[in-house]
Amino acid sequence: MTRTASILAVGSELLGTTRVDTNSLFLTGELEAIGIRVVRKACVVDGWDDLLAELSFALTRAPLLCVTGGLGPTEDDRTKEAVAALLGRKLIRDEEILQRLRERFQRRGREMPEVNAKQADVIEGAVVLPNRRGTAPGYLVEAEGKTIVLLPGPPAEMKGVFAEGVLPHLTRGGAPPGLHRRVLKVVGLGESMVEELVRPVYEAHRGHDVTILAVAPGEVQLHFAARGTPGEAGGELDVLEADFRSAVGPALFGRDDETLEGVVGTLLAGSGLTLALAESCTGGMVASRITDVAGSSAYFVGGAVTYANVVKSEILGVSPATLEAHGAVSEEVAREMAEGVRLRFGTTVGVGVTGIAGPGGGTEDKPVGTVHVALAAADGSRRHERLVLPGDRAMVRRWTTSAALAMIRGWLLERGELD
Ligand code: ATP
Ligand code: MG
Repeated sequence: MTRTASILAVGSELLGTTRVDTNSLFLTGELEAIGIRVVRKACVVDGWDDLLAELSFALTRAPLLCVTGGLGPTEDDRTKEAVAALLGRKLIRDEEILQRLRERFQRRGREMPEVNAKQADVIEGAVVLPNRRGTAPGYLVEAEGKTIVLLPGPPAEMKGVFAEGVLPHLTRGGAPPGLHRRVLKVVGLGESMVEELVRPVYEAHRGHDVTILAVAPGEVQLHFAARGTPGEAGGELDVLEADFRSAVGPALFGRDDETLEGVVGTLLAGSGLTLALAESCTGGMVASRITDVAGSSAYFVGGAVTYANVVKSEILGVSPATLEAHGAVSEEVAREMAEGVRLRFGTTVGVGVTGIAGPGGGTEDKPVGTVHVALAAADGSRRHERLVLPGDRAMVRRWTTSAALAMIRGWLLERGELD
């Protein structure tokens, strides 16, 4: 039996110019993994008539309909009301949900606004799917051979309710075979280089689609998939992954949801070392990514955004003579920034970043995109890298940030091997 589904993302903001429907991407991946093919998806404004029309059409296209958004407390959140109207069912206020809502507000020291009470209304006959991350629960309704799943709009809530409430329902009696995807992430190698390295691997594993994507400046991803039960597909993906890892080498830093900053964080936390950053052209972007990781306070002490020469000297102790002789964008200055911030912040590792992000400021021997990244550690080890990066200002800055993180990772890995 091929099982199919349609997805409906509700929210006028999704039809504007600032918000993208990412919920349907997550849902598609989850459904594919349990053998359910998405045959239709749509975004619809909050309007009542549009909502009713889309819901009833989507239900004619597949036996499962996943709807996200419009479960909130405000006037324009009417997904539940529309589904009830379509099925000719009543909304019944659930005192238990109401009580939990009130308690949720009380815990944050607030009185529940009366508009929120409608979040306790349940479609007659629906299963309530608890939402641990927000106020609006999800719902699962079965009617006329169709299953309708209602999920909250905020992505984190949607994922939680799907994983905890919907997936167990769809996989009763064991997970059916489906399409399982895996992503491997590479830093510091270009797309064509990665392609060259992995070609023998995917030629040896014909039948698997392998896609190589340059997703972010400085990062390349390998996407591949296998069909089967989670066990079968997982085994095949593990074999492919192992082969890709040995073909690409240490530039391959993570898989699926792993991030470069997360991987660096795990290594730093595991080694017990501390880090300080001195940033010029990245303006704090390295520090921002380092602190994106929960628990980064265990190893990250602080950073300084040192843009002007005088600040590089006064805050980091970069020698004015070095600045004069080599210019702010130079190997010498990057090295002094790294060592300076390390000493002043009292850490085991310091990293310095300086470069010309553009569009102005380039010269013949230092074109736009010239970047120096340096690392200094208490054990006397030193690293330096000069890069000439392509792209616009945003790209150069983002790429530099990844290069700095990659340098920290590379050094930590080598250090680990020496231990
Ligand atoms: P709330 O209780 O927060 O009002 P809701 O279920 O009514 O929840 P919405 O109001 O539709 O959800 O959306 C809340 C937030 O979730 C908004 O920031 C919105 O941009 C985001 N969001 C909604 N739908 C999607 C989607 N399909 N993809 C990504 N983000 C979404
Ligand atoms: Mg809302």
